[in-house]
Amino acid sequence: MTHSLGIDIGSCYTKAVLVEPGGAVRASCILKTGADFARAAKRAGERCLDGERASVTSTGVGRALCAAAGGRPTELSCLARGSHHYFPRPHAVVDIGGQDNKVVRVDAQGRLVNFKMNRKCAAGTGAFLEEIARRLDIPVSRMNRLAQSARSAVEIGSYCTVFTCTEIIHHIREGKKAAEILKGCYESVVKRLLEMDPLDGDVALSGGVVANHPVIIELFRARLGREPFVPPQPQLLGAVGAALLGLERAS
Ligand code: ADP
Repeated sequence: MTHSLGIDIGSCYTKAVLVEPGGAVRASCILKTGADFARAAKRAGERCLDGERASVTSTGVGRALCAAAGGRPTELSCLARGSHHYFPRPHAVVDIGGQDNKVVRVDAQGRLVNFKMNRKCAAGTGAFLEEIARRLDIPVSRMNRLAQSARSAVEIGSYCTVFTCTEIIHHIREGKKAAEILKGCYESVVKRLLEMDPLDGDVALSGGVVANHPVIIELFRARLGREPFVPPQPQLLGAVGAALLGLERAS
């Protein structure tokens, strides 16, 4: 049996994961997608394979443009499969990506039960956080640490990115600290997801925002009143799921 390569071509980042026939992750890579989905998929795949042979399964918004793929399951199925690999019990996967966020319910067998998705608005996504960083003139790489240093959080009432920016300017004029405003923005991401779904039961967190802004994990823990499950590399969960579905297709 050959190795299986999962490629998740997202709106912002393309993630590739090579798994061994037994399911262990052997190599992975993350690179910016850019404008050309096909090229991103090829580059990520080649970097992961390093000359090795594997069956290919693509997922994500650009999955149709991965020429090498023998299967193209949706991101929802891949998140369910990937999350069940690490967390084999019924739960909800909360995925916070660059331009959308999703709640995917998984049953005890790793099957997708249902999902909710926000794709119409940037609020509550990575794009929202990046816009806030721009408005506050803070590098994205400093946002997480700054928010973690805040003693309290400014209440961000608006659920629209444009109006949130207006609110932020108001808070700056009132003399509020950037760290407190940022923490409030992260809290608004968590609140928005809880508005999408009450998230009762076990919860797993995934996506690039969770991977790069771990303050989100702390805020979920506080809001849920229990420990969320976080897979080893949260941004790779969809690609891991694609690779595992690829193994199952081949068997
Ligand atoms: P998609 O599948 O939509 O491309 P991802 O799950 O890969 O989304 O997450 C992309 C988001 O993750 C970005 O919008 C950004 O907010 C965040 N992100 C990714 N890499 C970094 C990084 N190095 N530093 C800070 N944030 C990052």
